[in-house]
Amino acid sequence: MTQILDGKALAQRQQTALQAQVADLTAQGHRPPGLAVVMVGDNPASAAYVRNKERACDRIGIASLGRHLPGDTPQAVVLALIQQLNADERVDGILLQLPVPEHLDAIALLNAIDPDKDVDGLHPVNLGRLVRGEPGLRSCTPAGVMALLADGGVDPTGQQAVVLGRSILVGKPMVLMLSAANATVTLAHSRTRDLPQVTRSADILVAAVGRPGLITPDYVKPGAVVIDVGINRVATPDGKGKLVGDVDYDAVAPLAQAITPVPGGVGPMTVAMLMHNTVWSYGKRCPGVIPA
Ligand code: NAD
Repeated sequence: MTQILDGKALAQRQQTALQAQVADLTAQGHRPPGLAVVMVGDNPASAAYVRNKERACDRIGIASLGRHLPGDTPQAVVLALIQQLNADERVDGILLQLPVPEHLDAIALLNAIDPDKDVDGLHPVNLGRLVRGEPGLRSCTPAGVMALLADGGVDPTGQQAVVLGRSILVGKPMVLMLSAANATVTLAHSRTRDLPQVTRSADILVAAVGRPGLITPDYVKPGAVVIDVGINRVATPDGKGKLVGDVDYDAVAPLAQAITPVPGGVGPMTVAMLMHNTVWSYGKRCPGVIPA
């Protein structure tokens, strides 16, 4: 029987625990944790992600202090907003929703976020802390994958892991987290030669590519744990479209020891880890309020 790693259920359990923690804080007269999601422009996928994040904040009791700016907002105005949020005591987490419109320099904006409020874990200081194995804010999606593995009883120690995709958002931090958890990790990408041979060596295979159905059974070792990070919208005959991952789920699931579905796998865990990071950041910024 293939084990389904149910991210939706785990995310709900984590959010219920955070909700209780935040209710305790506010009952004691403390301010609630605050998250500011900054979105520039009207990318429909981004708008849906931002709505999900704001709904999660509402459920948990985290204050949503974000701003939605028009698509033609100049760099200096976005930068000034980030600086204002850095200085705002009510804000524990700042997230710049990517992608930003082309006229903006995303790297400069991400680097302007106070590293102690960088709940997406993309600031060089936090990526550096991850490399050095120091405590810090961790990228939400790979942190969500690690939480799903742990919850599913998968210990990476000594296992061969292959991460497909080398983005700063997912692939690279994923490699570092699996390595910190004692896996032997290979990073594969679009220029990897004989990809199926490389991925078939994996006890744990993480696909973070953005190609629907790329991972077919010939890419997977029987008995592997398969984590599908991809989120791709594909057309359907009824014209509505649907979300699929990078893994051909129906063909691969029977082979796998464990697998994440799309939707309902890694996606909800990303939001749950964002909420976790916001409360963690609050705890660091308000010493003594949350017991260590
Ligand atoms: P990206 O476009 O920045 O990186 C994609 C990576 O895939 C690149 O490193 C590239 O080398 C590699 N690649 C491209 N084509 C390949 C191929 N044919 N074979 C092997 N490798 C190939 O993307 P990203 O931001 O890392 O996102 C990857 C996917 O994960 C997307 O579908 C995205 O929507 C999804 N995503 C999901 C979540 C979530 O919460 N589940 C979060 C972030 C991203």
